[in-house]
Amino acid sequence: MSSFPASAHPPAPATVLLLLRPAAVFDGETMHPGWAVLIENDRIRAVGPVAQVTAPAGARTLDLPGLTLLPGLIEGHSHLMLHPYNETPWNDQVLLESEALRVARATAHARSTLAAGITTARDLGTEGAGYADVGLKQAIEQGIIPGPRLLVATRALVATGSYGPKLSVDVEVPQGAQEADGVDGIIRAVREQIGNGADIIKVYADYRWGANEPSRPTFTQDELNLIVKTANSAGRPVVAHASTPEGMRRATLAGVQTIEHGDGGTAEVFKLMKQRGVALCPTVAAGDAISQYRGYRKGQDPEPERIRQKKESMKLARQSGVALAVGGDVGVFTHGDNVREAELLAREYGLTPLEVLRGFTSGNARIFQLPDRGRIQTGLLADLIAVTGDPTQDVGALRQVKLVLKGGVEVK
Ligand SMILES: [Zn+2]
Repeated sequence: MSSFPASAHPPAPATVLLLLRPAAVFDGETMHPGWAVLIENDRIRAVGPVAQVTAPAGARTLDLPGLTLLPGLIEGHSHLMLHPYNETPWNDQVLLESEALRVARATAHARSTLAAGITTARDLGTEGAGYADVGLKQAIEQGIIPGPRLLVATRALVATGSYGPKLSVDVEVPQGAQEADGVDGIIRAVREQIGNGADIIKVYADYRWGANEPSRPTFTQDELNLIVKTANSAGRPVVAHASTPEGMRRATLAGVQTIEHGDGGTAEVFKLMKQRGVALCPTVAAGDAISQYRGYRKGQDPEPERIRQKKESMKLARQSGVALAVGGDVGVFTHGDNVREAELLAREYGLTPLEVLRGFTSGNARIFQLPDRGRIQTGLLADLIAVTGDPTQDVGALRQVKLVLKGGVEVK
């Protein structure tokens, strides 16, 4: 039997100190062999050469020989409510799977995402699962389930008639996003989503209006301007799905934070994005996965037109100097396989491993305006991972995650 000591003052919470001694530290910008990191509770207290960062009394020391310590990765574009389309087509996920089933899956997705070293994810739309991402985020924050810190977009906005699923015109079916149009409709929908927990407003600036046609613009310039104005006034950024030059141009002029996909981007529109400070999240892994689901045998067949075009537009994007966010549209492919985007960018799209690694950490943090993470710096969140080898030489090293700390707590 135990009893509590009678005391007028509750004991002060104990300070937890942890000293990490890896082979090298990648601080979000540069590799530093022989550095160490000291963590106090959920924050980084010190970082520097081992001789200068020593263990204070009561600190636990963790030696990590052969490992590189780096900031927890920031996934730029996920859908935790989706699972790979070669398992179940998108239409069927939206129409046939219950929200309970989708949320149950999402809890498993969140766990595998965190285990893969992703400590923050921008989750860009529930695709028909309403506000389930808000509850999922709360469950993670309350420690009920493991998962990354989430920025959620909730339902996303589409122009009436532009999205899916589309069955016969005689059947009305729930849509994968919220339809909104015109001044009153748009203001109301943006406020509704924010009121229900959206950290980000996502808008589809273009889409295929019919099954067998290319994407075309959806919202007018005035509508997009209004979406951004309404969201920004509540302190939320707007991100735009867009792949046509006109959709991208309108979204850029409206003042979105990022453009997602951008497959049909031209030199002109990338230049405009660069001028306006709009970043591109190219999601190359999504196109790569979808092409393979459609039968493309990578390494055997000639490259499909879609991939060839994507490589062309990425060349133009790179030449323009537009900032690149790293995000794969994971959910289209398996959660936990987030590193696929980084590998493709480095191996097939001409980025150096260092560029990719900066993008995946400090770059995404800057673009998404998360000044408390993405770097290993005194005072920032102790969201850290340790991987085998040197990911600045080969980003494939990011698959060898041996340790994940989220807010200073070992979660793997
Ligand atoms: Zn997406």
